[in-house]
Amino acid sequence: MSFTSLGLSPAFLKTLDAEGYSEPTPIQKEAIPAVIGKKDVLGIAKTGSGKTAGYVLPILHNLQTATVSQHREPTVLVLVPTRELADQVHEVFQTFLPALTERLTCLAVYGGVSINPQMQAIGKANILIATPGRLLELAGKNAVRLSSIATLVLDEADKMLNLGFKEEVDRILALLPPKRQNLLFSATLGDDLSRVQQVVLRNPQVIKITDEADEIDLIHQLAYLVSEEKKGPLLRYLIKHGDLKQVLVFASSTIKADGIVNKLLKNKIHAASVHSKLSQQTRRDTLRQFKAGELRVLVATDLLARGIDIEFLPCVINYELPRSPKDYIHRIGRTGRAENPGDAISLISPEEMDHFQLIQKKMGKRVKTLSGDQLDLQGY
Ligand code: AMP
Repeated sequence: MSFTSLGLSPAFLKTLDAEGYSEPTPIQKEAIPAVIGKKDVLGIAKTGSGKTAGYVLPILHNLQTATVSQHREPTVLVLVPTRELADQVHEVFQTFLPALTERLTCLAVYGGVSINPQMQAIGKANILIATPGRLLELAGKNAVRLSSIATLVLDEADKMLNLGFKEEVDRILALLPPKRQNLLFSATLGDDLSRVQQVVLRNPQVIKITDEADEIDLIHQLAYLVSEEKKGPLLRYLIKHGDLKQVLVFASSTIKADGIVNKLLKNKIHAASVHSKLSQQTRRDTLRQFKAGELRVLVATDLLARGIDIEFLPCVINYELPRSPKDYIHRIGRTGRAENPGDAISLISPEEMDHFQLIQKKMGKRVKTLSGDQLDLQGY
């Protein structure tokens, strides 16, 4: 099946070809015609499924046929939970924008960087990608009006609709025209769908690509039961002994993440951290380096658990478990893409064992658990 048979303008073909997208992914096959048909969509598919292009392409297609230039304010709004995801989505829009005959602009706005350039540019952008806090700040300063938004996308929708973002997202929704197209995409959906129904009101097309369980089967999960003080040596053992070339390590706090990086560096393992206490420029540079394969170990907090796409990432290590079982699934989902099974290794201290049992129960899968304390970690 080709992209044009989904109703997509041939104008995109050259770029699709250059990007190596020879045929649409399953989510794209369903989402593209639905979005072109102006339907509301609830798409459940994990990162790596091509969901971003699944909404970017038909949105651009629709903009091409709409009279966008008459609007001197944004008509498309994509809300995302993290700055990194904002950059990633922005990149996909930028890739395909040149295919359009009309010159449209796309802007990502988020906190942690100077607001002034965003104030200047935001009102004129046709497509806006934003984290909620900064968008509200800009709207509060009258830098942008959201009354012409015709299409709203919530990427990582379950995160955007849960308690942490509820108040901000509600305030943004109140600024949007009630009549609009709503597109919600998420790798997981919570049990409570009432929030989703509040946003996607108009009989949405529900697209569910695979069961979480099927996706999880692509990941080789393994756990080591290990005392807290031996987690550091075990981590270094796994990296050196396993000759791991690209590892994403999750830690429970910013301080922990930096501590792990320091120890890795002392042991001559090239590592850096990404977390909320670092400048946006540092976060961006480090993530770029890691994605490009120039950094062996990236240590992150749950900031990177969602939505971030790292091609062929072979291994994720949980230095500590996340509090929520759902975040465990999001974290390990950074690896294990179709045809590329990945490894997810968790280091479990005796205190975390009960919690790990709970995670396994929620996931419906038992994880092989080895004893880390029995390994010879001398010299690591
Ligand atoms: P996403 O799920 O949106 O994070 O996308 C995951 C990756 O798949 C990105 O690196 C895209 O460039 C890539 N991708 C998206 N659509 C296609 C396609 N039709 N064919 C090949 N790669 C694709």
